[in-house]
Amino acid sequence: MSSPAPPPCPQPAPGGARPALTVIAGPTAVGKGTIVAELRRRHPDLFVSVSATTRAPRPGEVDGVHYRFVTDAEFDQLVEHGQMLEWALVHGRYRYGTPRGPVDAELAAGRPAVLEIDLDGARQVRRSMPGCRLVFIAPPSWEELVARLKGRGTEDAAEQERRLATARTEMAAEGEFDVTIVNDTVARTTDELETLLGLAG
Ligand code: 5GP
Repeated sequence: MSSPAPPPCPQPAPGGARPALTVIAGPTAVGKGTIVAELRRRHPDLFVSVSATTRAPRPGEVDGVHYRFVTDAEFDQLVEHGQMLEWALVHGRYRYGTPRGPVDAELAAGRPAVLEIDLDGARQVRRSMPGCRLVFIAPPSWEELVARLKGRGTEDAAEQERRLATARTEMAAEGEFDVTIVNDTVARTTDELETLLGLAG
């Protein structure tokens, strides 16, 4: 009697396996939000996590679309009940976090998920989900980043200084990321991200 055939080796997915969870981070004012908004416009079905935050909505921001705007007490509850995949105090002022449930549901269904979060959050996700892919969005130059932050005009001078200090630290962390994409134009940067996510064409 011949022995049973060994089980087949798992085959890599055609084109190589893609990590299901992609984390997009980069310095403040680099334009991550704009890139992710363009990605969503091109791929309305792609799951992009909606973060919870304790900061107030800016004009035009919609609760549940741009962020889930919550009180400090509500944020405390989410953390205490283990409902945050990661969270961080950003720019030393407000808390931001990724609700765990929707991300887990997407990954369990075999669909890709995208997070746009700060450096601290990206590090936490890497620790809890080592198979994720970290993408660093970089400015074409430091001078360009400063110009973008000042040109945005949504923060006062003191807040701009705080954000520049954070940006300096964030720029130094590029080496921790798997991939860097330079944000020169929205269209080209989104093309590159699309290719990376396997959504191009
Ligand atoms: P803004 O207040 O300008 O919308 O965002 C400020 C910063 O918070 C950005 O750098 C953004 O990446 C970060 N951020 C947004 N959502 C999250 C989140 O869920 N977790 C973490 N750690 N950072 C976030």
